[in-house]
Amino acid sequence: MTSGNAPYAARDLAHVWHPCTQMKDHEQLPMIPIRRGDGVWLEDYDGKRYLDAISSWWVNLFGHANPRINAAVREQLESLEQVILAGFTHEPVIALSEALTALAPPGLTRCFYADNGSSAVEVAVKMSFHYWRNCGRTQKRRFITLTNSYHGETLGALAVGNVDLYKEIYQPLLMDVISVPSPDCFERETGESWAEHSRRKFAAMKAALAAHAHEACAVIVEPLVQCAGGMRMYDPVYLTLLRAACDRHQVHLIADEIAVGFGRTGTLFACEQAAIRPDFLCLSKGLTGGYLPLSTVMTTDAIYAAFYAEYTKLRAFLHSHSFTGNPLGCAAALASLAIFRDDHILERNRSLAAHMGARARELEDHPHVAEVRQRGMIVAIELTPNKATREPYPWTERRGLTIYQHALRCGVLLRPVGNVVYFMPPYVITPAQIDLMVEVARAAIELATCD
Ligand SMILES: *Cc1c(COP(=O)(O)O)cnc(C)c1O
Repeated sequence: MTSGNAPYAARDLAHVWHPCTQMKDHEQLPMIPIRRGDGVWLEDYDGKRYLDAISSWWVNLFGHANPRINAAVREQLESLEQVILAGFTHEPVIALSEALTALAPPGLTRCFYADNGSSAVEVAVKMSFHYWRNCGRTQKRRFITLTNSYHGETLGALAVGNVDLYKEIYQPLLMDVISVPSPDCFERETGESWAEHSRRKFAAMKAALAAHAHEACAVIVEPLVQCAGGMRMYDPVYLTLLRAACDRHQVHLIADEIAVGFGRTGTLFACEQAAIRPDFLCLSKGLTGGYLPLSTVMTTDAIYAAFYAEYTKLRAFLHSHSFTGNPLGCAAALASLAIFRDDHILERNRSLAAHMGARARELEDHPHVAEVRQRGMIVAIELTPNKATREPYPWTERRGLTIYQHALRCGVLLRPVGNVVYFMPPYVITPAQIDLMVEVARAAIELATCD
């Protein structure tokens, strides 16, 4: 009989090729097999528990093995696990589309489903391009993106993203996009407010729109927080200005809220903080409470109407994924939305976020902390070898890996992005667990920056 982590780790490394991983690292780094989850905790086969401070790659909202979501999925499983969504439908996808339409910025009345975030971005990109074609605007075929943005890993999503680490090698395969400097407020001048900085940075977007509107389908952004780009944040005023300029120039606005949607930034959707409605809203990750792969692209009646015609006009959006609108995913999503409503989650999160921010800001005085920033339930700590220049540590030093390993030893799952340690915990975290998370991060930062 075998027990403990070791046998699972050995079997895993014989056949599993892990995402976003240099597999050779695992010659040193132990693979951690998880046997069960419970709330914010993950437990391995050695019986060691880890506080999931990153919501298992930003997907989990209400803890692992949440009883209410479990029950909803179990109940759905008894009646229908999957059905083709072309020509057929089912109650969970109807109810979810109604619920999302009621919750999203007004006017986003049409939900097109896919099964992961990257696919949702592909859908939005194709739909925008196709819309302009259907309107006879065939010269519109380019996309405007922000530097340091991230929209997923499939080729179209990778092309409209801008994190070099993921993109550079595949450049020869990617469509050509127009990149505009990010309004990232880490780069603001001393004394400049977030709003002033974001407003000033809008000049570049304004110029790009003026120069490229005739050939641009859409601008794609991550509203308020560029998550994979190191949790870099900007002011809502940028989105307000962007919405107005896109309207002026007849260019679509795609809001990729795959990471920031569902309460992460303090409001259900980040766009609400700028009081705007995008032409396409991409949702995934927290959509199912982090249970199952599902995504949706919400859009307007006006865009829907441009595809609505006699079949032989060939205007239809002939795009599909096998698991489009999977009933189990929809049931999990509906249960997750019910928790938001019944438990007043956005309200409760305000005090959790205040506590998390206050504790994290205690690290501001640390000699190697360049900034502690926050937007709602996302808190990021940017590390630097030099507080005056705020330059990054050389990436080859892998300071984040030291932090990851130390935190694991202390029972917390942190996974820094480059020089940025961040907290994006499930909303069921308690103030005491926040204290533990921040204390462990502090010790790990100490260890990783002491030389
Ligand atoms: C994670 C992410 C994606 C990609 O979603 P996947 O489900 O991983 O394909 C796209 N955009 C943003 C902003 C993300 O954070």
